[in-house]
Amino acid sequence: MQPKTMVKKARLHSPLKNFALEEQIIEYRIDPLTGESTLIAPGRAEYVQKMFAEDDSAVNRYYEKTAKECPFCPENLEGRAARFPKEVLEEGILHLGEIAAFPSLFAHSEYNAVIVLGSSHKRRLNEFTSSLLAQAIMAAQRLLRRMATIEPSIQYSALILNYLPPAGSSIAHPHAQLLASSIPFNRLRILISESRRLFEEEGICYWQTLIEEEKRRGERYLARLGSVEWYLPFAPLRQNEVRALFPWKSSLNELDREDIEGAVEGLTSTLRFYSEHGEGSFNLCIYSAQADASKYFWAGVEVASRPGLRPLYLNDTWGLPLLMHSSEIFEAPEALCKRMKPYFAC
Ligand SMILES: [Zn+2]
Repeated sequence: MQPKTMVKKARLHSPLKNFALEEQIIEYRIDPLTGESTLIAPGRAEYVQKMFAEDDSAVNRYYEKTAKECPFCPENLEGRAARFPKEVLEEGILHLGEIAAFPSLFAHSEYNAVIVLGSSHKRRLNEFTSSLLAQAIMAAQRLLRRMATIEPSIQYSALILNYLPPAGSSIAHPHAQLLASSIPFNRLRILISESRRLFEEEGICYWQTLIEEEKRRGERYLARLGSVEWYLPFAPLRQNEVRALFPWKSSLNELDREDIEGAVEGLTSTLRFYSEHGEGSFNLCIYSAQADASKYFWAGVEVASRPGLRPLYLNDTWGLPLLMHSSEIFEAPEALCKRMKPYFAC
């Protein structure tokens, strides 16, 4: 399970260099667990960055336009939110601190809750507070426990936050989604099955070995916050991708106060980094499986930045990652780690 790198060269006579012969380094990295490859292409960063940059006036116009008919603003929510059936939640809508949670109008899984993140219609990246994110995780736990009680086969969950339309969000008001199913999501299935295979064949917990190795090397390791290990992946799938692990916990339901504090501290640090470096939107996912699998599988967090909102924006997902499942990123995680580490300093 050693990380593998393959370096190739592309040769061209570039008009950007007066048609002199240029050799470009093509670095492929193979994920040691999944075998997926990622292309590191730092030369493209400057070229695409201006097309990913957020347009402030477009963001303001978007929030103003969507505020008029927002189903998640407090004055509309009670009249427009769906209700859970009584066997899931007696009161129909879960209120917890600033959070309101209710079923998604169009379900993405057999159990699917929308978790509205506070009453403010507009919330920028640096305005997602620790307390708000902690309440969202606790609301997800409460619902997940209820769902699993009703149907014990509900073992797989993803707490997802898509922020702004470039990240796939159709409603401006900040919200998360809790998806819970008896069928694992594709990536979750691969993470579970491959780490289980390593445990059965080699007697190791991949995630424990990974964190020990990342700590030893130091070049991609960010910090241990509370009980949560934050690091950058060797072969990222997305731009500015940050990951975290909950050691010896395989289910969202097992997370205690220290786990949740470590998760939200890392998430707010990541969003502050994105905000201060011009990243406009993001996706985040806290994934989990059944509660008794932690000897080979650990629940975790994945966060990645997405393009900023602008009138003619460039999507960062093109045919290669979408259809061929080959990722391309513009900055090596070791370089990103140097820039990001100060945000994770305790
Ligand atoms: Zn709203």
